[in-house]
Amino acid sequence: MSNTKRRNIGISAHIDAGKTTLTERILYYCSKIHRVHEVHGKDGVGATMDSMELERERGITIASAATTVDWKDHSINIIDTPGHVDFTIEVERALRVLDGAILVLCAVGGVQSQTITVDRQLKRYGVPRLAFVNKCDRVGADPEKVTALLGEKLGAKAVLVQLPIGLENEFHGIVDLISMKAMYFEGEMNESIRRAEIPKNLREKAAALREKLVDAATLFSDELAEAVLEDGDLENEGIEVLLRQAIRRGTLARELTPVFVGSAYRNIGVRPLLDGVVDFLPAPEEVENRVLDLDRQEEAMLLQSKPDLPTVALAFKLEDGQYGQLTYIRIYQGTVRKGDELYNSRQQKRFRVGRLLRMDFNDAEDIPEASCGDIVDLFGIDCACGDTFTQNDPNLSMSSMYVPEPVISLAVAAKDKRTEDSLSKALNRFTKEDPTFRSHVDPESGETIISGMGELHLDVYIERVRREYRVEVQTGIPQVAYRETITRQVAFDYTHKKQTGGSGQYARVVGLIEPNAEAHYEFSNNIKRGAIPSEYIPSCEKGFESCLKKGGLIGFPITGVKVTVNDGKHHPVDSSDLAFRNASIAAFRESYSKAGPEILEPIMQVSVEGPSEYLGSIFAGINQRRGIIISSSEDGNFSRIDAEVPLTEMFGYSTVLRSTTQGKAEFSMEFCRYARVPGSIAQELIEEYQQSRKNHG
Ligand code: GDP
Repeated sequence: MSNTKRRNIGISAHIDAGKTTLTERILYYCSKIHRVHEVHGKDGVGATMDSMELERERGITIASAATTVDWKDHSINIIDTPGHVDFTIEVERALRVLDGAILVLCAVGGVQSQTITVDRQLKRYGVPRLAFVNKCDRVGADPEKVTALLGEKLGAKAVLVQLPIGLENEFHGIVDLISMKAMYFEGEMNESIRRAEIPKNLREKAAALREKLVDAATLFSDELAEAVLEDGDLENEGIEVLLRQAIRRGTLARELTPVFVGSAYRNIGVRPLLDGVVDFLPAPEEVENRVLDLDRQEEAMLLQSKPDLPTVALAFKLEDGQYGQLTYIRIYQGTVRKGDELYNSRQQKRFRVGRLLRMDFNDAEDIPEASCGDIVDLFGIDCACGDTFTQNDPNLSMSSMYVPEPVISLAVAAKDKRTEDSLSKALNRFTKEDPTFRSHVDPESGETIISGMGELHLDVYIERVRREYRVEVQTGIPQVAYRETITRQVAFDYTHKKQTGGSGQYARVVGLIEPNAEAHYEFSNNIKRGAIPSEYIPSCEKGFESCLKKGGLIGFPITGVKVTVNDGKHHPVDSSDLAFRNASIAAFRESYSKAGPEILEPIMQVSVEGPSEYLGSIFAGINQRRGIIISSSEDGNFSRIDAEVPLTEMFGYSTVLRSTTQGKAEFSMEFCRYARVPGSIAQELIEEYQQSRKNHG
């Protein structure tokens, strides 16, 4: 398969916009399935890509899988991107292996809060996109308005490349504004497409929209601009070819979003959309991808989509199959062959490619090799999601070794002691799949603590434990991941002395502790003339660092500290690593309270959207939660509010929002940053902590 004939795409949407239905129709038209099911359907089968029972029930797609389909001599890998914004890492991992995306919108609901979040993520990863305005058959469908909103809210200029023929119940065809031809969808299932001239009543409108489209496209092609100037006839064939090229360029540059219309449910517009994927979304070699050099502070280097260069591939999804672990990989450079030896740069270990598979939506085919640009599976290897496989360079990585720290944690226990093993097996597996999900046993309480990026993030894993591992789980109260930090510079001078016969301990450390906005911890050695012999310096560094695990205010990790050691003293006999470590620990503990310690809390970026009549109560709800409104916008009778709200205050918000807006508003949230906890609340937290320490003796 030539690389220019390959597309790696994702389908992103607001929940309920029709992503699952569209995906299934695509599989159907590419002859992957032989019967169309109704999603959430009456036939009880459900759509094919939603493999997890849980997803079907909730109607959201949580995990991503990939499947290959063929469309007009092109091979399209469809990577199923998780729909929910709470799973940022998983969504983003899926997004990064995409070369392009279809953004599905509802012709009635329009641009919804999640559409914007998903679009922001697509932008972050530089993914070019097409928009598909679905559900044009629904009452109230208004694809033109949706396109206008899209342009307004999503930055990239959105232009219709199609015009619906009829709307709502009357929707039965599409005018293609590029070829200026009409398509009618006919037959019981709208399975046949009849091409014809544009109907008279739409001629004028089509010409006007065509002009808009040509106008937008000329920005990306001087040839097109010239041809238009010279000819003046916007509809001749020469212009069609140039127009197609120009739209492609604009889309690849992420400055243009071609908008398609249709109804997945009624099989209208799905096939022209597939043509659009082939025509306007990039082939793998048209996309720049970078790898990080771990030897050089993660400096980024460009990869080349060439099959004969050394292999670089990324594991972006794991699945527990019946017979072992299935690892979805995207090959970025070189070729992977069955029997190859590859290097896992995170594990710093070699492994052999036993089996190489290509996934169908429910089938796997053994293949001898696959090359750059492709998405395939390795079978039976041990690795984690996000691992990089290379042919011979152990220090290249596709993903930064930096993973955001979880912001929330929860104690969990198996209700039935006999299922404890299954619980730990489940947690073990999830931590492998998702680096933002962690699990550990608290050394003090002996409890199992899980942590992650939000309430829903943890909820879903608890559900999965229940369903996939059949373990009933008891949970504690969610705990926000506070941090402590310092605000003032403090000088220290500490002598650690213990001389009780035998060999004693002696060490003196002198220096500064100061706030450091740049990093979690920085240690600087300014010792001159060997006041502390260099062999003891690492012990000082480690001693200070060990103090950061647990702060003195509320027992949470300390962050943003710089320690400089600039003087000290040692004793030829009584000094040791241990003595310097102890001196450093004592010096830090003594200085901490003088350094103006403060508590930090995670602040979330929250977007709420709903009918404007509820605006007042949404505002009030955010204010009550110590939130700060960043912006708000109103569009007809629909409003959107962006705010920053402390995570602590967001517990139970979904229930409150639902009840105050009769379920008509919804929200999404993403971690934003850490910020200082206001004085009175900090005081309460400190008192609570002291009380609990007393209670635990
Ligand atoms: P997802 O949550 O984005 O995956 O959306 P689904 O594909 O599950 O669709 C949500 C609901 O909308 C289902 O009841 C579908 O049958 C329905 N639906 C999907 N596409 C269309 C469409 O084109 N027209 C209409 N009227 N309903 C649709």
